[in-house]
Amino acid sequence: MTFLYKADPVRGAEWAELFAQKAPEQPFQIWPHQGDDASVRYLAAWTPPDDIAQRFPNLEILFSVGAGIDQFDMSTLPPGLPVVRMTEPGIAAGMVQYVTHAVLGLHRDSRLYARQQREQVWRAHRVRPATACRVGVLGLGMLGQAVLQQLHGLGFPCAGWSRSAHQLEGIDCYSGSAGLRDFLARTDVLVCLVPLTDDTRGILCRALFEQLPRGAALVNVGRGGHLVEDDLLAALADGQLSAAVLDVCEVEPLPPGHPFWSHPDIVLTPHIASMTQPDGAVEAVLENLRRHRAGLPLLGLIDRQRGY
Ligand code: NDP
Repeated sequence: MTFLYKADPVRGAEWAELFAQKAPEQPFQIWPHQGDDASVRYLAAWTPPDDIAQRFPNLEILFSVGAGIDQFDMSTLPPGLPVVRMTEPGIAAGMVQYVTHAVLGLHRDSRLYARQQREQVWRAHRVRPATACRVGVLGLGMLGQAVLQQLHGLGFPCAGWSRSAHQLEGIDCYSGSAGLRDFLARTDVLVCLVPLTDDTRGILCRALFEQLPRGAALVNVGRGGHLVEDDLLAALADGQLSAAVLDVCEVEPLPPGHPFWSHPDIVLTPHIASMTQPDGAVEAVLENLRRHRAGLPLLGLIDRQRGY
């Protein structure tokens, strides 16, 4: 009945300590483990081994250590294996901080004032109220909703877009391809928080940028695969977009010499918008082990057909 952890070993050591405190009866090992592969029932991984099906014939649940599961090659997984994403609350807390910081930075002209300071220029520009900056979030899931709630509280007119229809107090909700045009037309700062699937790959492209108001800004905290990089560069060059904050890139780490590194209108961070916190992660995993044993639905269970 071993629980095997296969991701960053430093965080794995923290998981091991937390398992020892909270569930001492549950055998816990860190990859590469010494034990019997047949005893592995639960695997928490960023990337599972390619031969997962053959190597762990008795696996009962695959947990992602992150909120997304796009890094999993579903074709290598046994067909009926439950796949569970990470839903611990620290991920949403970190994402709310990052996106709030990004939106406030764009709204309060952080890049402009940083440049003025470098040039020793003391010049005030008009402060626009938050009500003049309409934020739109692609994705109304665990993270999109948390982010919108915070930005709504700061006074930004907020909207979200999702696959199915939602109703959220204070947030204008749009859904499906029919709702996308109207959602984009009212969005000055676009935040991407949909999962990366066959349907959303390349969604941040020229055709989408053209539907935003001229001079809109982009915050991509989803995945690099959402963004068509050349289309972003073209939209920034012709003024359709004014700025982009990118936490994720198609190739990570971003290769040396990539145009994003030195672009004056791009703010880059190395995929740190939010991180799974070990304490919350172990709580979330143990809760799912309890549910699994009790035959209850798992929290964060992926619909493998839908891809998220
Ligand atoms: P959820 O699964 O909770 O929510 C996903 C949302 O996206 C849902 O509202 C869903 O619609 C919507 N969606 C999915 N596909 C489509 C589509 N084709 N068209 C329209 N809407 C769609 O995900 P989370 O909020 O937990 O996470 C979102 C993503 O954030 C993760 O998949 C990951 O890629 C990224 N992430 C990035 C991090 C970083 O550090 N940069 C950290 C953590 C996550 P519906 O509600 O109708 O199902």
